[in-house]
Amino acid sequence: MLTYVRPSQYHKPMAQHTDHFKKQLLEEKTKIESDLKTVAVRNPDVPADWNVAYPDMNVAVSAEDEVADQEEEYENRVSIEAGLEIRLRDIDAALARIENNTFGVCTVGGEAIDEDRLRANPAASTCIDHAEK
Ligand SMILES: [Zn+2]
Repeated sequence: MLTYVRPSQYHKPMAQHTDHFKKQLLEEKTKIESDLKTVAVRNPDVPADWNVAYPDMNVAVSAEDEVADQEEEYENRVSIEAGLEIRLRDIDAALARIENNTFGVCTVGGEAIDEDRLRANPAASTCIDHAEK
């Protein structure tokens, strides 16, 4: 009697491994996009581009204090938006690495990225030695 070992049994553990990180990345992406929506508006022509929404405070032209508050709020939004957009790009890049089977490989030196590091930050693109200081 023949016993078959299905090829999928060899590949499954690796696929599950990446699936877990993919799920984690997609969840974070959803969260960041909803955070972005509170400070910015997605560019309808370029989905990866977000434009900071100017705070609508209904300010009277003469109220200088309110204008200053509005500008401060706008600058605040710009810095929040910039941080979120950078994070979103890192996540998209990590998702792309999953798709072309280079996930978990250091983009600088080509060595395997420590699994603990990926668990802490699945968007990590380099090993600890090559991480930006
Ligand atoms: Zn490296």
